Amino acid sequence: MPDSRGAPSPICFTMHGIGVSDGIAIGHAHLFAGMSAEVDHYTIAAGDVAREQRRYDRAVKEAREELEEIAESVRHGGATELDAFMRVHIMLLDDPAFAEAPRERIRAERCNAEWALRQELDDLLGQFGEVTDPYLRERADDVRQVAERVLAALAGTQRRVPAKPMREDGSILVARDLSPADVILFKRHRFTAFVTDLGGATSHTAIVARSLDIPAIVALHHARSLIREDELIIVDGTQGVVIVNPGRQVLAEYRLKQNEARLERDKLKRLRTAPAATLDGTPVQLWANIELPSDIDAVKASGATGIGLFRSEFLFMNRRDLPDEDEQYEAYRDVVEGMKGFPVTIRTVDIGADKPTEDGDPYTAVNPALGLRAIRWCLAEPAVFNTQLRAILRASRHGRVQILIPMLATWQEITQALAAVALARSQLEREGVKLHGPVPVGGMIEVPAAAIALPMFIRKLDFLSVGTNDLIQYTLAIDRADDKVAHLYDPLHPAVLALIASVIRTAQQHAKPVAVCGEMAGDVRLTRLLLGFGLRHFSMHPAHLLAVKQRVLKTSVAEVGPIVSRILKADDPEKLQALMEKLNA
Ligand code: PEP
Ligand code: MG
Repeated sequence: MPDSRGAPSPICFTMHGIGVSDGIAIGHAHLFAGMSAEVDHYTIAAGDVAREQRRYDRAVKEAREELEEIAESVRHGGATELDAFMRVHIMLLDDPAFAEAPRERIRAERCNAEWALRQELDDLLGQFGEVTDPYLRERADDVRQVAERVLAALAGTQRRVPAKPMREDGSILVARDLSPADVILFKRHRFTAFVTDLGGATSHTAIVARSLDIPAIVALHHARSLIREDELIIVDGTQGVVIVNPGRQVLAEYRLKQNEARLERDKLKRLRTAPAATLDGTPVQLWANIELPSDIDAVKASGATGIGLFRSEFLFMNRRDLPDEDEQYEAYRDVVEGMKGFPVTIRTVDIGADKPTEDGDPYTAVNPALGLRAIRWCLAEPAVFNTQLRAILRASRHGRVQILIPMLATWQEITQALAAVALARSQLEREGVKLHGPVPVGGMIEVPAAAIALPMFIRKLDFLSVGTNDLIQYTLAIDRADDKVAHLYDPLHPAVLALIASVIRTAQQHAKPVAVCGEMAGDVRLTRLLLGFGLRHFSMHPAHLLAVKQRVLKTSVAEVGPIVSRILKADDPEKLQALMEKLNA
């Protein structure tokens, strides 16, 4: 229905995805431009014109199929106005501006398809810029969205977070997909929430969202094409719901919820200095996970008594070069000094899979999560590894540092990693750098092989840290970043539980400290389960720490033990669920 100015009133609708970071945000949508000035431009040979035109045609076809699929799904959902909206996009694709003009430009300018489309789009948007009619101006958004869809089909341009959020009052970012590197940039910008069409609950993108402590939802599928720039949206990260153009009553209800959540958080803050121990007096260590030195303030506010995981690879992102030894040393030293004597566990760089570097390395694997990742990458790049180990060892003089090696799977990897640490140490000593006593070296248990063959690994390591995010991914063969299989990613799968429980038990038998630093450690619904497994050391994002502490304070180890034993033996999901409810009652 048109409003008093003749512009159509906004359509209110709701979308469901996977809530990956709790909380409620209310704000205006800022669409993350899938295409920026960074669209590639290159010349093609005369003989390749027809091939490039076919590539363009294929992308248009793919975009049309996607739109038809979306139209179909919104029609089933009863949202007829949205169906009409998608139809407009499909019609636009048939317009000569999309169907023909870029093809002609490819021929005339002998340029690549992305560039041809981008040029056409600039021309078109330039014409819209002179239009004052609000209805027609909205069509400019449609044109832009359709072009983005075609560009995405043309195998995507590099996406980058805009230099500044659009609104001072905090915008909500709406994107098709965000890389962890994109999200880390949010630490410098003021977005109050983000939502994406793709992604899984323990993708690094989701993990970084949790560390930002802003509501986030992934796997919405069509948010990027249905939500328009500047529309008012509510993001309920706890429920995984987005409400677009909410009515007054709904808005008031969510503002109330937002206030209640704020009060709840303020209450939790009182626990900051309380010692973490169970009702029956068992002390529990609650440490923090960080990505950047600037996270230290959040760590302090959480009352964490150590850092159990410093994901050092984030120092390597959003740049084309690698950080040198001094730069890394300064970053590690800042964290170590900031923690004032509390331990800092620096994980050696876990590059690869969904965290690539941007140094132009053309390495692309069919299964990157199974490829040259983490310790494999470090051992393949001994100079880079050496630089990092030297930087960590130098920083160890400023406090208590431990080194954590990611993704260990073989005996040789441990032997070589330990040899690399010894080499870095002897180099520094030869250079006259005085180091304190030995720096403990631990291993992440995140590959089933390491969990199963733990006795082989344990003797060589000073401590263990269970990376449940990858352990679940590799045990269940579920890509943690793929929204299409996100529903199968199950921390409560009996195989996962058996592995975690057995790692904790074996570590205790060998008197080796063991922590859990995957997302399971920060999930209050799993705190009692892990305590029942015998875990006494958790490392999580600072934003979750006080809620977990509250749960620890309300738990009796003696009481949860028998229920957890039954959970480990449960052989059907309903029984397991019932026992989990009993455990958390
Ligand atoms: C894990 O795999 O559980 C983990 C903590 O490491 P990351 O999430 O960085 O892969
Ligand atoms: Mg991992």
